[in-house]
Amino acid sequence: MKFGTKVLHAGIEPDPTTGAIMTPIYQTSTYVQAAPGNHKGYEYARTQNPTRNALQNNLAALENGKFGLCFSSGMGATDAIIKLLSPGDEVISTNDLYGGTYRIFTKVFEKYGIKFHFIPMNDVGGIEKLINTKTKLIWVETPTNPMMNIIDIRAVAQIAGSKNIMLCVDNTFASPFLQNPLDLGADLVLHSVTKYLGGHSDVVMGAIITNNEKIHEDLKFIQNACGAVPGPQDCFLVLRGVKTLHLRMERHCSNAKQIVNYLSNHSKVEKIFYPGLTSHPNHEVAKKQMRDFGGMLSFTLKGNKMDDALKILSGTKLFSLAESLGGVESLIGHPATMTHASIPKEEREKSGLVDTLIRLSVGVEDVEDLIADLEQALYLI
Ligand SMILES: *Cc1c(COP(=O)(O)O)cnc(C)c1O
Repeated sequence: MKFGTKVLHAGIEPDPTTGAIMTPIYQTSTYVQAAPGNHKGYEYARTQNPTRNALQNNLAALENGKFGLCFSSGMGATDAIIKLLSPGDEVISTNDLYGGTYRIFTKVFEKYGIKFHFIPMNDVGGIEKLINTKTKLIWVETPTNPMMNIIDIRAVAQIAGSKNIMLCVDNTFASPFLQNPLDLGADLVLHSVTKYLGGHSDVVMGAIITNNEKIHEDLKFIQNACGAVPGPQDCFLVLRGVKTLHLRMERHCSNAKQIVNYLSNHSKVEKIFYPGLTSHPNHEVAKKQMRDFGGMLSFTLKGNKMDDALKILSGTKLFSLAESLGGVESLIGHPATMTHASIPKEEREKSGLVDTLIRLSVGVEDVEDLIADLEQALYLI
């Protein structure tokens, strides 16, 4: 099955009791048993829920994986993966990381005796130097937020595979429409389903997909034992959102490209960060491992005056000023004062995150209106 067919049909059967073509919301906490232990495969809804099962199977298929598990948030999914480890184990992670991931690693799991190394992975040579017998997991996020750096998944997978170390790729920014890390050698794919998979900014959810039966069983145990499961209503909303993932992603990508093109020719714009630009330092890797370049981009302003950025951020009318990404509506954000405010200015600027860096999550509106909105906002400075 091809992708556009899978989003609609993979893992989804008409309801066996009524024939309902859309997976019903099984809003129940428990299931009746005919006699003790005699049930239909469902005992308690933390462990099993038919709406969640349909979604888990669907998301697994989209990542070309055998097994999928959904969690109450992306962070809930990350939490489950780190709980596969034991005190003394070590993790090598990209340094350019979603803030919440950095926070759970350093503020929650370090105190349980797990050690995290954060390094740039543009050059994979640095990973090998850190590997020792305690290294159990390599954590990659690509493209990254907000600098849109790209990491060569296949190259990292080769190192991880040769040393028997698990590789997890946070595929949130690309979505399975653009990139399938399992095909490139990753053991685990993580999604903040909140973003492109849900796609309508109305659900918080996470997912993990794998082909490894042992890892799946261990994660399923953690999912049930620790209990960070999503409710059936949210699973229904994501099942509904996913059905248009391919259509939305095509539009996100084409709108983003046209906006990049518009900004490239604007006299007030200094630099644009978008993996689709041939000038992007990892454009060749992006071309190799992604089908297109996505709906996320960042840019800076000439002169680098914070005030200019703030004028634009409060001046756009269609681009709403908000955190998050991947929804049908366009968002604008300011990493220096929003998502990355806790990082000292000098540290931020080392990675290019300057005061006028503006991030766009380009939605699926008519692109002429989006460009007109940016035009009037840029005119304010
Ligand atoms: C949002 C996000 C997360 C966390 O997901 P939640 O659903 O907000 O818990 C993890 N990784 C990336 C790249 C994200 O954008």
